[in-house]
Amino acid sequence: MKVAVIDVDGNHFPNLALMKLSAWHKQQGDEVEWWNGLKHYDVVYKSKVFDGLYTEDMEFCIQADRIVEGGTGYGLDNRLPEEIEHTCPDYDLYHIWDTAYGFLTRGCPRRCPFCIVSQKEGAASYQASELTEFYHGQREIVLLDPNLLACPGVERLLQNLAESRAQVDLTQGLDIRLMDRDTIHLLNRISFSRIRFAWDDPKEDLTDAFQQVARHTKLRDPARRVVYVLTNYGSS
Ligand code: SF4
Repeated sequence: MKVAVIDVDGNHFPNLALMKLSAWHKQQGDEVEWWNGLKHYDVVYKSKVFDGLYTEDMEFCIQADRIVEGGTGYGLDNRLPEEIEHTCPDYDLYHIWDTAYGFLTRGCPRRCPFCIVSQKEGAASYQASELTEFYHGQREIVLLDPNLLACPGVERLLQNLAESRAQVDLTQGLDIRLMDRDTIHLLNRISFSRIRFAWDDPKEDLTDAFQQVARHTKLRDPARRVVYVLTNYGSS
């Protein structure tokens, strides 16, 4: 089969679903490439993470027997088949040589009204994969987990990250409400380029929690401690 993929967002951040689809098709002996408007394909996958506010859908004519649209930009109810979901991503698609991307956990119990995670992935955090499913000794691990610390048994996952000795980036931010001394101690064993947190509701005073982390984290440089702040939602 001739397969093409389209990263509709095209924001330079690699699309994990497309990398998994590409890997799975290549395992079946199919040819996979970025979509070329002059060619006809057996199947074309379009993936879009962001909704129309951020990413408009593309309106080009696509020559293909089948066009599959997926990602939260097209709706909350589409998912990769289990077999593909657990395929190691094809990093070559984005010419990525030394970074692993993936989710160790999915879901979040917080149900923040501005966020789709609880609705899409479930209102509980659960382990979605083992680190070895997408990490094979690369120098860096980029995690996309929505609320890693809410996952039961997170200690083992943090231990695996520490043992990898890779530089870890938890891109979606850690839930500081779930941090205690033991968690900080475990996080201190992991090599982070920077550590990220989120503080979305200004009505919830998290000052003590942030001070505790600032006191006990091994990341002494404040520039390596990042806090995402949601604005214009209960704040200005
Ligand atoms: S804590 Fe984060 S991931 Fe969970 S529902 Fe709120 S914004 Fe979404």
